[in-house]
Amino acid sequence: RAFIAQESEEAQRRHLAFYQSHRDPYSKERLTLASELRTALDSGEMGLVFQPKYSLSEHQVTGLEALIRWPGRSDPPDPETLINLAEETGLIQPLTRWVIREALACQSRLVADGFPLNIAVNISANNLREPDFPSFVRKMTQGNHPGLTLELTETAMMTDPTSAMEALRELEDAGIPIAIDDFGSGYSSLSYIKRLPAREIKIDKALITDITHHGDDQLIVKATIDMAHNLGYQVIAEGVEDEATLDWLRSLNCDAIQGYLLSHPMTLEDLVPWLNHGIQLPGSNNLHA
Ligand code: C2E
Ligand code: MG
Ligand code: MG
Ligand code: MG
Repeated sequence: RAFIAQESEEAQRRHLAFYQSHRDPYSKERLTLASELRTALDSGEMGLVFQPKYSLSEHQVTGLEALIRWPGRSDPPDPETLINLAEETGLIQPLTRWVIREALACQSRLVADGFPLNIAVNISANNLREPDFPSFVRKMTQGNHPGLTLELTETAMMTDPTSAMEALRELEDAGIPIAIDDFGSGYSSLSYIKRLPAREIKIDKALITDITHHGDDQLIVKATIDMAHNLGYQVIAEGVEDEATLDWLRSLNCDAIQGYLLSHPMTLEDLVPWLNHGIQLPGSNNLHA
């Protein structure tokens, strides 16, 4: 209990969801949902939205993160529930492969429109236990494209460090950068993380949210950014919702941001006009066009 009490609110919520979903993982409703998910993956009912990553030094959008959606459904489960379900039912393999294929197909359309942007896809620890996952990714990314990044949460990296380490190394060797997602939401330290092959650290939004009025969070974020830089990582802050937070992150030399201040995740259809319009972040007089 005391252990739980130290967790961030988001981590607590995640644990609660985990316990609830595990109370009866094979309830009739869950099995029905899983079979509907399988059908949706096969029949093109799933969708992706994209959230831009904005570089504070380059003053421009340098990449996108793909996030899964189930648009045809009247009451879709939230992405975290969906991913939990997929992990428990073996559907995470086809789901992740669908996401990678779709993200790369969308990337080709963006290239054709003049936006050669790197796309990040979230993967699950289970994917790293698929023996052919690295070779699948290598095959998918052959040829010219502006790059695929794989995001894996800090917690997922810790669940099976040995197999994670091997698969991640193979992916990095194949030129696929790894980003450590939700950093600061679990219990790992940078001294452990630094042994993993990765290029980018994404600081969890739970730490970013209160940075403007919590001195502790400011210190933690500052220390994380400084240490990560010393270890050679790029640092991106998630969940940046207002200008004051952006100002703090600038002053702490954070490399890049993501969050509602810049943009909510968008469909490809909405993304292209958004990119064409060019964005102006408060405090930066540079237009991206
Ligand atoms: P994540 O990878 O850390 O993605 C960031 C989440 O925060 C997204 O929620 C995004 O919509 C949300 N977000 C972005 N900016 C802000 C902000 O300024 N404020 C707030 N409050 N939220 C913001 P989403 O799309 O619901 O995804 C939740 C999580 O589900 C993701 O966290 C990721 O772990 C997982 N997920 C989503 N799509 C996929 C997928 O295709 N595969 C896998 N394996 N996991 C996925
Ligand atoms: Mg992510
Ligand atoms: Mg995250
Ligand atoms: Mg998250």
